[in-house]
Amino acid sequence: MLRTGFVGWRGMVGSVLMERMLQEKDFLGYEPLFFTTSNVGGTGPDIGLDIPPLKDAYELDLFSDLDVVVSCQGGDYTKEVYPKLRSAGWKGFWIDSASTLRMADDSIIVLDPVNRAVIDRGLSKGIKTYIGGNCTVSLMLMGLSGLFAQGLVEWISSMTYQSASGAGANNMKELIAQMVAIGGITQDMVKDPASTALEIDAMVSEELQSGSFPTEFFGAPLAASLIPWIDKAMESGQTKEEWKGFVETNKILQTTNPIPIDGICVRVGAMRCHSQGFTIKLNRDVPLDDLSEIIESGNDWVKIVPNDKETTLQELTPAAVGGTLIVPVGRLRKMILGPEYLAAFSCGDQLLWGAAEPIRRILKIVVQHLS
Ligand code: NAP
Repeated sequence: MLRTGFVGWRGMVGSVLMERMLQEKDFLGYEPLFFTTSNVGGTGPDIGLDIPPLKDAYELDLFSDLDVVVSCQGGDYTKEVYPKLRSAGWKGFWIDSASTLRMADDSIIVLDPVNRAVIDRGLSKGIKTYIGGNCTVSLMLMGLSGLFAQGLVEWISSMTYQSASGAGANNMKELIAQMVAIGGITQDMVKDPASTALEIDAMVSEELQSGSFPTEFFGAPLAASLIPWIDKAMESGQTKEEWKGFVETNKILQTTNPIPIDGICVRVGAMRCHSQGFTIKLNRDVPLDDLSEIIESGNDWVKIVPNDKETTLQELTPAAVGGTLIVPVGRLRKMILGPEYLAAFSCGDQLLWGAAEPIRRILKIVVQHLS
């Protein structure tokens, strides 16, 4: 029987992965083994099967007879363990949510509703390393895959509104702590019909700028504010998050003529849904109704939201989309820039399509390939 090792199953991405695998009854067809970097001998996740105690994720001998390793442990772990395993001759499949190996020559970035053909070619060529993409890139492609598949995209500028969860669990908690701090100081004024919005705003501003506002993880207020910087600086003046848009999109699609993708990535006070506003330069003028149909036919999860206020407020917000696999695309209209310029807005749960779901699905594909 195939043997699959899971590392990083209790982190944020790992726990969403476990949740989805249980929902989809995915723990079938192989023996699952669970690893830890912090609790050797402890109890693994409840997957409805008898599983052995947790094994040491740094004891590489334990990996030698594994057919597949799924890691959601993070880049430092991958950097340390993966090269040692490969140089020790391990020939199994490595599936990873960390970015470390995304741009390696012998890896494939996975998003099978969009690049199943690329994955299948990789499997038949003997490629053994399959990596989940950046959350924003994966969600952009889930929303716009129809346009890419029809070869309609000349370039895209993407302005993002990214949730706290993309920065990790501590950051999600810090966002709430910031909201609590603001709520705490203003609650009496908010209830008082005699107070003015300007008085409340002055209190909020003072709190945001006070040295005691909780900003340890974000480095700046996010609640009642935003942060137009995600990840580290690149020489191009982009942030690394912005840099990934071009390189990862073109690697996922394996384009022969790379499609320019660029924009500004901004952290906002949403919990787990990333949103993006797109300016799409089409390479020809296509009627808007046809573009809607092309986008909606891109995959089973994308959904067109009519460009009206009521439906937009009901269906095209992080609050409406969080916790679901639907990727709504709305605010579709031709821009006054010209008939080849399309505006669109999309939301998506970044812990699902942005992280755990492509990993869950590639594991299934690999298990089927090996069975
Ligand atoms: P995470 O929540 O920090 O979890 C990583 C590991 O930290 C866990 O597996 C666990 O390992 C350890 N850990 C320590 N204290 C913990 C605690 N209190 N609760 C849970 N785990 C704890 O990392 P993540 O956000 O899932 O990200 C994993 C990888 O996926 C990263 O490389 C990240 O860049 C990538 N990624 C993340 C996202 C995202 O939205 N967060 C999206 C796409 C890709 P032990 O059990 O061994 O102690």
